[in-house]
Amino acid sequence: MGRSSLECMFDNGSTGGVGAVVDDGRPVVDPLVLPDILFATAQSENMLAAQKVLGASMLSESRFNAELDVSGDVDKAWRIACNEIAVMLTCSRRTAEVHIEIGDALREFLPLTKAAFAAGELDYARVRKIVDGLTGAAPEAIAALERRVLASAHRLPPGQLERDIERQLFAYDPDAAAERRRKMLEHRDVRTRADRHGLAQLQATLSANEAVEALGLINEAAGSVCNHDPRNASTRRADALVALLHGENGLTCQCGSETCEAVSPASRSTAPSRRKPLLHIVCDLATLLGLTSDPASIDGYGPIDPDFARELAADSTWQALFVDFRSQAAGNRPRRQHAPTVLPLVTRRNHPSREPKGCGDRIRAMQRLVARAPDIVRRSDGHGAQPDPTPGALTYAPGAALAALVRAVDGHCRFPGCSVPASRCQLDHITEFDPSDPRRGGWTIASNLQCLCRHHHQVKTYRLWTPVMLVDRAIHWTDKTSGLTTVTVPERR
Ligand SMILES: [Zn+2]
Ligand SMILES: [Zn+2]
Repeated sequence: MGRSSLECMFDNGSTGGVGAVVDDGRPVVDPLVLPDILFATAQSENMLAAQKVLGASMLSESRFNAELDVSGDVDKAWRIACNEIAVMLTCSRRTAEVHIEIGDALREFLPLTKAAFAAGELDYARVRKIVDGLTGAAPEAIAALERRVLASAHRLPPGQLERDIERQLFAYDPDAAAERRRKMLEHRDVRTRADRHGLAQLQATLSANEAVEALGLINEAAGSVCNHDPRNASTRRADALVALLHGENGLTCQCGSETCEAVSPASRSTAPSRRKPLLHIVCDLATLLGLTSDPASIDGYGPIDPDFARELAADSTWQALFVDFRSQAAGNRPRRQHAPTVLPLVTRRNHPSREPKGCGDRIRAMQRLVARAPDIVRRSDGHGAQPDPTPGALTYAPGAALAALVRAVDGHCRFPGCSVPASRCQLDHITEFDPSDPRRGGWTIASNLQCLCRHHHQVKTYRLWTPVMLVDRAIHWTDKTSGLTTVTVPERR
């Protein structure tokens, strides 16, 4: 952005001329105050967005009631209210409806969210996730969860917030979540949608397990060619889907080599001996046994209600992985808490379903811990406080079960503000693995592995940001350039 556009941006008086100095007779902005100006601008934008949806809600209510008094026709009254707002804001009728619905929800049952939005603390995207996430939940659930959801909204990007709300609802009332899930099954569907340049999208809405299984089968069929096949991975997946729909067993390799080792689909057995793709659900043992009801996750999907986890665990195509990170993944703790304790296998709250804790609360608790005991932010040797390496710890690539466990617990890229799903992330050794001396370098163990998307893995490789693993897989990040620090937590505990 050139100087002239900066001048235009900040010379309209809305920021009170913060930082404006005269240079050569023209107002310019001091780069040192740019962060403050940017922050103030975002805050003002949020406050105005709040005014817009609350205004739309109030105006539509007034028009709706006026028409209802005259004709008693609910449908007509709603159309009148929506149309007026759509025309006034020059937006579509659907957009107007969304504004009104968000404004109504804030006014009717989300008082804390409304106050935070109006104060400019939350943006429209997060408020919309809160409204969408909590609409339809029981009033007592909303009242119980709003404060925790808000704590998460202040600290998570919208994508992570959406999943955090879902997880909190699962934990608060697992039975209602299971009921909702079963009802939603009738919305499963397959449709096509025209794309540009002669492409089309084939979209399927499936249950989470069906979708993960389908992708596993597609990936397996796509992997049936040799390494010299000229197609890229995504094209192979598309070809594999089409082949499977035609009842074929895999792809014909296009390498053109007479010595190709890939087996042609025709000669592949159609018997049910075909290996099923390896699929994982991650949950704690007590939930699986029905003793507690904590949310679980499907590797490659995200959080699921505990009843669903129990259902899948009984299906032989799914492998259940148990979360026990507290005992195996020792991160940095305050030094005074170093007394050796024998940790139970299942480290859960005693009455989980009524006291779900969101990611926001966990981040806040961890930030307080760091403020009280700053020495926990120190570079680790990457050995997880273990004297000797566990099997696999000295091999660079983590085994399938360890990789699935880390992915399922992290849920997404662990860089601040990034929501790239764990299934598309790489597993990063927080303390570098040393191929020349694996015992001395960082080990391949849960407490030294984190999910990072390709982009943020590169950011870490450039040493622009430094991560330190704290307790419970919280990660403390420091920006080398600005000194900014922040904490991220895994999606599940
Ligand atoms: Zn080949
Ligand atoms: Zn990322």
